[in-house]
Parts: sequence; C-alpha cells; structure tokens
Amino acid sequence: QSQEVSQARIDYHAALLALQEHGTRMVCTGKMHTDRICRFDYLCYCSEAEEFVFFHSNSSVMLPNLGPRRFQPALLDLSSVEDHNTQYFNFLELPAAALKFMPKPVFVPDVTLILNRFNPDNLMHVFHDDLLPAFYTMKQYSDLDDEARLVFMEGWGEGPHFDLYRLLSSKQPLLKEQLRNFGKLMCFTKSYVGLSKMTTWYQYGFVQPQGPKANILVSGNEIRQFAKAMMERMNITMVEETEKDAGSVEEEKEKEKKDEYIVVFSRSSTRLILNEAELIMALAQEFQMRVVTVSLEEQSFPSIIQIISRASMLVSMHGAQLVTSLFLPRGAAVVELFPFAVNPEQYTPYKTLASLPGMDLQYVSWRNTMEENTVTHPDRPWEQGGITHLEKDEQERILASKDVPRHLCCRNPEWLFRIYQDTLVDIPSFLEVLKEGLRTRPNLKKTKLANTVHPGRVREPQCHTSVQATNEAKLTVSWQIPWNLKYLKVREVKYEVWIQEQGENTYMPYILPQQNYTFSENIKPFTTYLVWVRCIFNKNLLGPFADVLMCRT
Ligand code: UDP
Repeated sequence: QSQEVSQARIDYHAALLALQEHGTRMVCTGKMHTDRICRFDYLCYCSEAEEFVFFHSNSSVMLPNLGPRRFQPALLDLSSVEDHNTQYFNFLELPAAALKFMPKPVFVPDVTLILNRFNPDNLMHVFHDDLLPAFYTMKQYSDLDDEARLVFMEGWGEGPHFDLYRLLSSKQPLLKEQLRNFGKLMCFTKSYVGLSKMTTWYQYGFVQPQGPKANILVSGNEIRQFAKAMMERMNITMVEETEKDAGSVEEEKEKEKKDEYIVVFSRSSTRLILNEAELIMALAQEFQMRVVTVSLEEQSFPSIIQIISRASMLVSMHGAQLVTSLFLPRGAAVVELFPFAVNPEQYTPYKTLASLPGMDLQYVSWRNTMEENTVTHPDRPWEQGGITHLEKDEQERILASKDVPRHLCCRNPEWLFRIYQDTLVDIPSFLEVLKEGLRTRPNLKKTKLANTVHPGRVREPQCHTSVQATNEAKLTVSWQIPWNLKYLKVREVKYEVWIQEQGENTYMPYILPQQNYTFSENIKPFTTYLVWVRCIFNKNLLGPFADVLMCRT
C-alpha cells in the first residue's frame, strides 16, 4: 500500500538533475527551535542511517543558517510538545557531489508534512498534540492540501486511532518503518517539517506541574471549525445551529426538549465508575432526560461522536476520552469525575478546553472525598498505579495520604496509584455539585459573534486646558467614536481615560460613558499630563489606546 507513491508524476531525470545541481533548499519560520516550521525542496531521508540529509551545492539555501547552534539543542521540535528532548529534528549534511556514490534516490512527488505524533495510543494526545496541530499547520501552508502526504517519524506503529489521522488528507499517512520500502535514499520534492503549536492549550508537566499553557492562542472558534471538518470527513451529519424555520418556536422547543439526552462516557478497563447503573438512573431522574452510555471498547469512534455531537451533557471519569467534549454542541455541559485524593484543580486539560472563549461549554467537576468509596489497585504493574515495587515506608506514606501533592509528569507513583482507582460515586454529593454548577445556564444568544469584535482606536483625541487660579486648573479631553462602531450593534459602549502627570509612574483611570469630559480634581496648573483614551465594548472587550496626548495646563 505504501508503494502507491508513484514515480509517474515526475520526470525522474529532471528531478535527479535538480537535486545534483541545486542541492537542498530550506526556508523556515520562527526564531527559536520551539516555534519553527521549515519548508524544504529536496530534503532527503536515508533509511539505512535513519537520518534526514541536506545536500549542499552552490545554490542550496539554509535559512536560518545557525552553524553549530543547529544542535543547541535542535533545529526544531518535530511534535507539538514544546522542547521535548525526544522530539527534536535535525539533518545530516553532505555535498551534492556525494550523490554520485550513493544509492539512486527515490523521489516523493507529494507535498509532504513531516512530524512526530506524541502519544498515538491516547485519545487526548491524538487530538491535542497531533490532529489539531496538523490540521492547522496544513491551513497555514496552502500547498498542504487534501492531496498532501503525512509522514510520522516518531517510530510507532499505526496505533488504535489511525483512522483519525487518515482524515487529515486523502493520502495514506506513512510511518517511519515504511520509509525503508522506498529504498535506501528517498527525497521529498516539497516538504514541511514541524507542527504549529498555536492550537495547544495544555502542558503535561515535564518542567513544571501540568496545567493550562501560559499563553493560550486558540479560541473555541478554531476548535469548533476543526471539529466540524472532522465530522464532515467522518460522514457525520451536523445539527445546524440555525435550522429553526419549520414549525412554531414553541413546538420546536418542545421537540428539542424531548430529544435532549445525557451521555455517560464509560471506561471498561481502568478508572471505573463502580455504580454506573445507579449514576445513570440518578441523572435520568434529576434531569428528566434519556441517558446513553458510550465507550471506546464498544463503539466505533464516528458513532460515539455522532452521539456526543447532539448531547446536552457529557459525564465521565477524568481521562483521555473527555477530549471528545470538543464535539459537544454549544451550551452543553461537561461533567468530570475525579477519584479519591486527586485534586480537580491540578488536572485541567478538559476544564481548560471547555472554558476556551467561544467554546460555550459549561464545566463541572466532582471529586470523591469518601475513602470508603474508593477501590485501590496496589498490586498492579507500576504504570497502572501499582505500588508494591516501592519500599514499605513509601507504600505506607502513599496509602495514608489524602491528597496527591503537585508533581511532574509522568511516573509519579502516588499520582498513578490514585488516578487509577475505581470509584463508587456518592450520588447525593454528585447531584449536589451538578445542580450547583449548572444553576446558571449560559445565554448563547448573548455570546454570539458580534461579542467578539473589539473596538478600534478612538479618533481625533484632543485636549484643552485652562488655568483657573494658582492652584486650580482644568483639563478637557474629547474624542470621536472608533471607526468600526458605526457598523456594529453594541449593547454598551464606554471609554477609559488614563491621566498621568509627566514624570510620575502612576496614573488615574476613569471610565466614562460620553465622548468628552472636563477633569478638574487633581489637575494642577503649569503641569504636563499624558492622556490615553480607549474604547470598551460590553464591559470587557478592550480596544487599543489612541496615541498619547500631551496636555500642558
Ligand atoms: N481507555 C479506555 N478505556 C479504559 C481505559 C483507557 O478507552 O478503560 C483509553 C483512554 O481513553 C485513552 C487510552 O485508553 O485513550 C489510554 O488510557 P490511560 O488511562 O492510559 O490514559 P488517560 O485516560 O489517563 O489519559
């Protein structure tokens, strides 16, 4: 199957000549290895050496040309996980003249995206580290289209979710082990190496305890567009958000109410909910809705997504399967359960996802606080939370602890012990948390598109001053509305004015509803004030400041 890369579409001799004459050409974006993506003409791969090769000739290009800094620590990250030392990319160099003594290269005609999958066995990692970054890297470079070839260099087999990776393009992705089938030397006519990190929202705790990334750059809008594209490619029919034409509004509401249901995402092998049936009954009774269970062990992924994409609520133990909440409709709730001694505040990949601006999901966590309701597994292998391999003292300390202290990824035995517990969910406390957490329903109408438009700069800012007496002065500031306001319906428009006496390092902030104001308090004669003005829509959409005004009284 992998041999389908055809040689027919390119003129072999022309390609070989081009490689020999021009060598490899590389142009990258990004200042650091952690934000770099590189585009190559004629990047080659030697399967014998398991190395990429850059061929130098008189017309080869290498930008950035880092010299030996290319190894400090690497040219770029091959996965979307920041600066992970098992995920670095680099190439070896050879003069193009060496080609004469090397095996005949096989050329790959497809535009290729070369990357590492980070952990293709785990669904959260599949979506967060690979699928979303690859999807948006392909959007960034228009020749990485539906015909693009993906090459996964991490060295793993297909894994359980390979069908999801297949959705990224119409061509079969290639694994590292398959590259040898192309011969000893293969050359990618056009390729991109590396993944965009723009869409990731979580860091897994390699250098500091896990948590949301410091500077999240993605909003619910991009996540939802990705979800929509994936669903289309899985042939899942979407519920249109604006399909309310037929029938009266009341009828529609009634019908929708009847169709509403809750999904319990169940795990069948580890981290079990021991009284799932009881939990389901309680949910059905409390919300007067159908409750459906899904599990990765029992259903195909597309059929699970079909169900989740129309659900009102998704309930699940903490775990990778909760990444499927990115397919929930707007307004739905995510309910995440945590085993005993695990603090929900410290493990927030799904809370962070649900809370991205524009995701429009509610999020509630419940934590088992009753030790008698937990079932531990001390005798299991260490990677499933077993602790019998540890010193007796350490085992006793872990058994006595009621809260896993903050820790780094990935092998902390106390963390693994606690996170792989099974839980008997205490129904009264669960329903209590749920009712409390879902008391206010989000108003989706209010959080619609117009609310994400920021004000422009206020225009024609001016100041006028006058001196009243030796200790009394006035400062009048006026401005025009931002240019984009006249095209918008905004609920509330306000202006913020900052006044700073020149040379001081503090300022006085004012919020004003109108477009001019005369300040007299705290205004001194014969003094220079710096004045900044900006517009604010609906309390929290801040615009930029206009150029600073210098106002001398
Ligand atoms: N998994 C599952 N059922 C189970 C246990 C795990 O479907 O009973 C899936 C899980 O969703 C994830 C993968 O197997 O995709 C690895 O699970 P693990 O518990 O190692 O990771 P976690 O869910 O804690 O991220």
